[in-house]
Amino acid sequence: MLEIKNLHVKLEEEDKQILKGVDLTVEAGKVHAIMGPNGSGKSTLSYVLSGRDGYEVTEGSATLEGEEILEMEPEERAAAGLFLAFQYPVEIPGVGNMTFLRTAVNAQRKARGEEELSAGDFLKVVREKAKSLKISPEMLKRPVNVGFSGGEKKRNEILQMAMLEPKMCILDETDSGLDVDAMKLVAEGVNALRDEGRAFLVITHYQRLLDHIKPDVVHIMADGRIVKTGGPELALEVEQNGYADILSEVA
Ligand code: ADP
Ligand code: MG
Ligand code: MG
Repeated sequence: MLEIKNLHVKLEEEDKQILKGVDLTVEAGKVHAIMGPNGSGKSTLSYVLSGRDGYEVTEGSATLEGEEILEMEPEERAAAGLFLAFQYPVEIPGVGNMTFLRTAVNAQRKARGEEELSAGDFLKVVREKAKSLKISPEMLKRPVNVGFSGGEKKRNEILQMAMLEPKMCILDETDSGLDVDAMKLVAEGVNALRDEGRAFLVITHYQRLLDHIKPDVVHIMADGRIVKTGGPELALEVEQNGYADILSEVA
């Protein structure tokens, strides 16, 4: 699904190299987790994959189902099936949540050569998906994320993901700032989307999310590279011992 090879990225503004040769292959149907100390480049990786400004790819490639995505516009990447749930969801005053979702879904359908959903069909689907994430009809009417609690913002990211039905879902610390109940809702939302034709890259600091979203593969990122890859037991090792042992082992 996603193949990243030798990805090197620096900041556009400064001469600062952040990603220093990331190699990562995520197969369809799988959930891969990325853990790693603060500042190791996890968010940068997710931003670069989704096409955020401010970064320069100096080497390497990233393909989605065989197609190079690094040269695409963000909306082209989305149309190709990529989705990023932000670590810090953005508030968009003046844009109703429902309007935002409907516009995004229909843009996506158009890009795939499908017909737009009728207003009635859209409402039915969005209400059903919102309900399972405990997002109230009132929250659907409010401007995107404005005045939402941290947990509500993160659940709203999962609602966007559920509505867009992407192929490659990247979740950047979607669990941070969530209480246990909100985290379970988020995990259930993700698990409901697990499918043979879809893959997940779940960036997290904590094992606890991975108790609910069982990963197939766990990677440790440090200083701009994937330094260790293993099974779910790797996340437990981090939980128990922190990163120090792993980092000194690979050094
Ligand atoms: P993580 O998500 O793993 O905590 P980040 O990708 O957010 O790490 O950051 C990686 C490193 O790059 C950090 O040292 C961070 O300070 C730096 N960095 C990222 N974006 C910028 C930026 N726009 N300006 C300056 N430094 C940045
Ligand atoms: Mg961080
Ligand atoms: Mg981060």
